[in-house]
Amino acid sequence: MSDDLPDDMADTISEAIEKAVRLAKDDGPWHVLPNNDLRDHIDTDECWCSPIEVEDDVWVHRPLDGRDEYERGRKPS
Ligand SMILES: [Zn+2]
Repeated sequence: MSDDLPDDMADTISEAIEKAVRLAKDDGPWHVLPNNDLRDHIDTDECWCSPIEVEDDVWVHRPLDGRDEYERGRKPS
């Protein structure tokens, strides 16, 4: 693994969301959490990071560390 965040982080997130959507069908809502973040997240939409609901019942949490990288990694729609 590289130390650098991949430019295709948006793709990584998309893949995570696809998995989450499949897994969430039974459990929902599903929360996609950043790996190795500096602060623990809680699996609710009231988390400190103000998670984004990207699909029905699928929430993507924003990393405390590297938030700028996340923003930069998003693709324009
Ligand atoms: Zn969070």
